[in-house]
Amino acid sequence: MASSNSNLLSLPRPRPQFRRLSSMTATERDVREGGPVVVVPERLMLQRSQSHHGGFAASMENARSELNAMNLEEEALSSTESSTPGTPGSPITPSDIPTADSFAFAFDIDGVLIRGGKPIPEAIEAMKMLNGENEYGMKVPYIFLTNGGGKTEAERCIDLSRQLDIEVSPAQFICGHTPMREMVEKYNTVLVVGGEGEKCRQVAEGYGFRDVITPGDIIKDNADTTPFRKLTPDEIKHSRRRNFAEVKIEAIFVFADSREWAGDIQIILDLAMSKGGFIGTLSETFDEGPPIYFSHNDIVWSAAHDNVRLGMGALRKMIEMLFRDLTKGKELETIAFGKPQIGTFEFATRLLQQWRKDEHRCNAPPETVYFVGDTPESDIRGTNQFNERSKNDWYSILVRTGVFQEGTTPAYKPRVTVDTVLDAVKHGMKREFAKKMRGGAGAMPFNSIALRNFSLNGEGGVGTKTPIMERSEGNTPEVGTPDERVKPFDS
Ligand SMILES: [Mg+2]
Repeated sequence: MASSNSNLLSLPRPRPQFRRLSSMTATERDVREGGPVVVVPERLMLQRSQSHHGGFAASMENARSELNAMNLEEEALSSTESSTPGTPGSPITPSDIPTADSFAFAFDIDGVLIRGGKPIPEAIEAMKMLNGENEYGMKVPYIFLTNGGGKTEAERCIDLSRQLDIEVSPAQFICGHTPMREMVEKYNTVLVVGGEGEKCRQVAEGYGFRDVITPGDIIKDNADTTPFRKLTPDEIKHSRRRNFAEVKIEAIFVFADSREWAGDIQIILDLAMSKGGFIGTLSETFDEGPPIYFSHNDIVWSAAHDNVRLGMGALRKMIEMLFRDLTKGKELETIAFGKPQIGTFEFATRLLQQWRKDEHRCNAPPETVYFVGDTPESDIRGTNQFNERSKNDWYSILVRTGVFQEGTTPAYKPRVTVDTVLDAVKHGMKREFAKKMRGGAGAMPFNSIALRNFSLNGEGGVGTKTPIMERSEGNTPEVGTPDERVKPFDS
């Protein structure tokens, strides 16, 4: 993938014009369609001529599209998307604050920045600090790695821009279901499960899936499928009429948390036990069903309730367990994406490396990435495991605002535990500054230090690809057993 003749001393590709949309008025569609975009709080739209914090969001958008282009070449996926000609927009105002490139932050969202749909107060302060309001006079790049599903990267971008009052681009989000985008060529007809109403069908179609079926479509065709679940008038209206005798479902994607566990479990198991993905058939061997993908494997997550709530990983366990019972001992192999899968962290590293190469002409990822999360089993476990094999340092920070609760022992040990995301940011910045001081760099801006390391360029390609997934059986160690998971909450 990396070309042998390194051209790192050449200028980065010319940056396309970015559209700037207000977080108050932008719609998901505005963000998704029309080319590179950053979503901006209203107050920054009004202060366009002044220096603002736009640089990082825009440059990340650039790096992500370059990375996507590489992936497409690599996989020889035929892209029919015509590149949208640059929409007239205002160019990003150059920033007068240097951006660090030797370290970066990666954040989990639920339980770290947001809880129960509301921002955690310290998160707003933390974002200001990363955007230049700090004693070191620098900005620090950041990305978001979330297992939360059911929303496109574009929607997440609008929500977070509003909630945290930051300028942000969709490229900064890596969702559990992001890698499902890479499977659109592999499967034609897919069942998509989870989320509200038609949302996940829209996400899947937005990813490029050609023929997307929902549980609602199946129930509309045969109401006896789920004896106790009746479709609402709205569901009847939106569900699509099909002749399922002729439809072969090639794969199942659980994009977001199920809203109707009983019905969804029934339909997933019907297909898992079917003859080759045809609804209404029953296999004799129980090994002909379509593959089942989950966007993550978190058993619990931090919502508005005082105690953690059941998540998609719990649904996955139930389906596997029930399949075993119903088939008298056959194992069902399912696949999960998201944290703690190594591929998720690897993708984040490639993205940060591409960004650094474009912006700072250094073809290596930031030396340290501080990952801030609230779930030991996915955030901390994934960061620590990835750190064992990565060239750069992935430094795990656990916060006390989400799943992990004080007075318990985390199942996977972070490098440091702090109260809030603001403490995490302060910890990382202080540590970096102390490191640079020890290195004799004094108070030099971090990107100047990077420029001095010009000779580093050419080391390390933009990492190789590992599938962003975990199989339920095989070599990959299984994500915590129910017993392990319960442990942190028994005090
Ligand atoms: Mg979380």
